[in-house]
Amino acid sequence: MKILVAAGPTREPIDPVRFISNRSSGKMGYAIASAALKNGHAVLLVSGPVAIKPPAKAKLVRVVTAREMLSAVKANLPKCDALIMAAAVSDWRPAKISKVKIKKHRMPRALPLARNPDILRIVAGEKGKRIFIGFAAETGHLRAEALRKLRAKNLDLIVANDIRRTDAGFEADTNRVTFFSADGKQAKLPLMTKEKVAERIVAWLEKERRRRSINDRLKPATVLRKIR
Ligand code: C5P
Repeated sequence: MKILVAAGPTREPIDPVRFISNRSSGKMGYAIASAALKNGHAVLLVSGPVAIKPPAKAKLVRVVTAREMLSAVKANLPKCDALIMAAAVSDWRPAKISKVKIKKHRMPRALPLARNPDILRIVAGEKGKRIFIGFAAETGHLRAEALRKLRAKNLDLIVANDIRRTDAGFEADTNRVTFFSADGKQAKLPLMTKEKVAERIVAWLEKERRRRSINDRLKPATVLRKIR
């Protein structure tokens, strides 16, 4: 498969010095890219600013803002079979970017914000037969929130984690996730390294792809012949 993985945070500038961002380290997305490459897939890695090294064989597209990430995902999706959105996209950006450094006494007490595009929702219309996987980082109501996002973003799988725990989610080397798939199945994985979680995600994707190709091959005529 050709797999598009989006990883890391996005960074939304306030002025040439300051920005709004989040705690995403990129570890989970980079681990997925590595696991996919190890299994022989081609990987296009769209990455926000992170401090870790990308896997050598991935085709890397570096972005900074959510809007740049959206453009990179849109431009590369047509040639891909699957999209894995492991990026922590900043939901908001400063409404205006100052070209010059804002003096500290001039900084407004409340910064006007503008909503960033929801990348998954926007590209949902171009999904076709592609497999889409998203993430949900929650501090409560994990199942309800994950299922809501799975449907709202037209995903095939959502990987949900409870970020209240220090051994899972942002910055950690380990993760504790639950898979919720569009067919109603749920699988709670134990605490494991992000590399192992990544292997499980890639394995799920490969299984889903096999299932679909078998279904495609089993045309009605073939099914009838088999039954007789
Ligand atoms: O709605 P929420 O941000 O919790 O959804 C998380 C999922 O949606 C992640 O897979 C994330 O990469 C994706 N997302 C996105 N565009 C946004 C925000 C989140 O594609 N603006």
